[in-house]
Amino acid sequence: MYDLKHDEKVCATCPSADCLLKCQYMEFEQDEAHEEMMKLIRGEDCRVLHECITCYGCEEYCRRGNHPFYLICERREEMGILTAPRPITNQWINMTQMQGKQKVGAVKERVMSFCFLPQLPLMGSGEIFKDLGWSFVFGAEFMCPAVHTHFAKMSVVKERLPQVLENFSELGVKEVICMHDECYGTYTSIAPAYGMEVPFRPIHYMDYLYDRLEELRDRIRLLNIRAVYQRPCSSRLSPQKLHRVGEIFRMIGVELVEREYQGENALCCGEIPRAIAGFRAASDIQRRNIQDMVDAGAQYCVFNCPACQTTLSERVVKFGLKPVHLIELCKMALGEIEMED
Ligand code: SF4
Ligand code: SF4
Repeated sequence: MYDLKHDEKVCATCPSADCLLKCQYMEFEQDEAHEEMMKLIRGEDCRVLHECITCYGCEEYCRRGNHPFYLICERREEMGILTAPRPITNQWINMTQMQGKQKVGAVKERVMSFCFLPQLPLMGSGEIFKDLGWSFVFGAEFMCPAVHTHFAKMSVVKERLPQVLENFSELGVKEVICMHDECYGTYTSIAPAYGMEVPFRPIHYMDYLYDRLEELRDRIRLLNIRAVYQRPCSSRLSPQKLHRVGEIFRMIGVELVEREYQGENALCCGEIPRAIAGFRAASDIQRRNIQDMVDAGAQYCVFNCPACQTTLSERVVKFGLKPVHLIELCKMALGEIEMED
């Protein structure tokens, strides 16, 4: 079985306890945050086990190489503390079960992974992805199982992730372009945190997009629009990729407007908190987030994660914003998708 690499001594001497001090959903004084983390390490009951809404943020806030969120998941599971009603937890486990129904294209050494998100195959087309042709995989067999951390089921992650890695290995692929941000976070954060070897080089789709836009620069039609970025929880596992959003925006003539809930201070889309913290808490997160987008004077709300896009699109439209995925935005700049008036 895979054990989490979390160095207790590093927490014991931590001068900041930023992991919990910066949490947007619980308030702690600095010494309380530190003591809370030590209780978690000792396996004692503590507030975070009952109040954490699983935003993944503390994985980004810890700058000392530890894994506070994965530890919260481990402890919750050990102590039998479910984050959501059992039928919801089980529903997620069941509907993402591998059933041998994966779709595998004409796989080359470099392959696109559409995870298990039906929106992604449509996006992985056009000039940007032309060179990859039909080199893709899709289905539960290639799905990053990180979603189960929301439901304190790290055991499911530890059981399924090695199988996913093995499925890629059997295809002999060398590079996987992760079209789902959470896949990239899974392969570059969760896998090493548990000592799992990843048998390919994961490539974040935003890196791929950036490189392709460089190659297609003379075909880019500047969009001249103002937009906000909806940062997903999954990107807390790969904060080193956040700079790509601004770089891609600049390349295609999109102004990334400043707002309160961006960067480290981003709010999640609210869908998972609906199951975990309830309707009122989720609606409050969404209301504050969307009002912030409106106050910033944005025309477009740009998504990274298709799940956030599904959750928030209708709501942002009601407030006069146009929802679009980052890939669709790039296709607009290449004239493959019409801009809405
Ligand atoms: S998880 Fe990181 S930030 Fe939190 S107490 Fe430990 S070392 Fe400090
Ligand atoms: S996952 Fe989010 S809500 Fe939970 S403790 Fe970490 S920062 Fe707070």
